Amino acid sequence: MSFMAPMLRLYNTLSGAKEAFAPIDPAQVRMYACGPTVYDAAHIGNARPIIVFDLLFRLLRHLYGPAHVTYARNVTDVDDKINARAAERGISIRELTDGTLAQFHRDIRDLGVLGPEDVNDPGAPPRFIEPRATDHIAEMRTMIDALVAGGHAYVAEGHVLFDVPAMPEYGRLSKRPLDEMEAGARVEVAPYKRSPLDFVLWKPSKPGEPSWPSPAGIAEPGRPGWHIECSAMSAKHLGKTFDIHAGGIDLIFPHHENEVAQSRCCFGTPVMANVWLHNGFLQVEGEKMSKSLGNFITIRDVLNDWPGEVVRLTMLKTHYRQPIDWTLRGLEESSRVLDRWYNAAGDEPAAETAPGTVVEALCDDLNTPAAINALHALTDDGSTLRAGANLFGLLARTRSAREQDQVAASGVDVPAVEALIAERKAARAAKDWAASDRARDALAAMGVSVKDNKDGTSTWTVAG
Ligand SMILES: [Zn+2]
Repeated sequence: MSFMAPMLRLYNTLSGAKEAFAPIDPAQVRMYACGPTVYDAAHIGNARPIIVFDLLFRLLRHLYGPAHVTYARNVTDVDDKINARAAERGISIRELTDGTLAQFHRDIRDLGVLGPEDVNDPGAPPRFIEPRATDHIAEMRTMIDALVAGGHAYVAEGHVLFDVPAMPEYGRLSKRPLDEMEAGARVEVAPYKRSPLDFVLWKPSKPGEPSWPSPAGIAEPGRPGWHIECSAMSAKHLGKTFDIHAGGIDLIFPHHENEVAQSRCCFGTPVMANVWLHNGFLQVEGEKMSKSLGNFITIRDVLNDWPGEVVRLTMLKTHYRQPIDWTLRGLEESSRVLDRWYNAAGDEPAAETAPGTVVEALCDDLNTPAAINALHALTDDGSTLRAGANLFGLLARTRSAREQDQVAASGVDVPAVEALIAERKAARAAKDWAASDRARDALAAMGVSVKDNKDGTSTWTVAG
């Protein structure tokens, strides 16, 4: 097998520099992203890493071949918020998380995000894996036992704690030197911690909370801390060291720092993942999104008003490492861009190869603004434009199919529209301009615009 791919360069949080990407095994590129905590409907900020790393997955599949990229995106289905919400509603955590996860899947499917059903081939190893924390408790226990046995963790009052000061390289990913963190640490509140920096690998379950048999010889049942799940699941599905670990910038510390500590100390490896990618924050109309400000937007809220493609393009217009300001104006602009691209692509099939200009832009640390400019330059070549947009997860439909979808989504009364168009045609034939204008106005009021073709027929579209 030979790879004549352009060179992919990615900004690596670990080194603080943009680097040429060199997979450990080009025949099997392995990538992990921290996925959702499924206790409530996902908000638009949660959609950002999902869309950005979906684009990276698509690009890697394009560069290395679909059979040569494995992507694991986990689901956190045990955590304090989940326990509290399930108790509040009087249901089991599995019931709560199954329902929330199903909603999440519907949300991201509408955003054009690839899922297992799109990429996994029965009879071949899965290329998209969505591991759930509660399905990997045994693997977590095994890791915790190994960390205790290796002197990297200790048991105290039913907890297992990671011994942070015993790992000199702790803080390397987040660029927080251990001695500075130790000097700056507040007086510790939990008496069972040797150092205030130590973090929980396992803890006792409170009454009514889900619990599992504990590791490290602890008699009482308990539950895992948050960080250990990603170490256990990535090792199981991708190996002890893999190529890319991705997530939101807010996860660098402590979550990713702790994942690195657990995995490296458990397996005795120099790194957990070679490349660490982090997407920037999202704010709404210039403000931090919060329930108290009333600007908390779920993915479904946006999808109720806008097609998924518009949402996806809006998210990708900003480079993934920059903060994004989510605005109505941005959505309107994306909608116009998609109209233009669909008109240019028409019903032409995608060209066999994606345009080099688009691929090169994406290979420059997922430079989506440059790639979008490259797409704009292709509007006189519909089938190449479509191939480039497809790599973005956009323009999946023909223009005709999109128009039919728009008609269906608008809820417009199709027989009424057809009747008005016939009325208008008859009025024009009779040169009854007043009647023709009335029909046109009635159509406009329904959001329908009519285009008269040279051959005497007319076509119509609905706004949106
Ligand atoms: Zn994680």
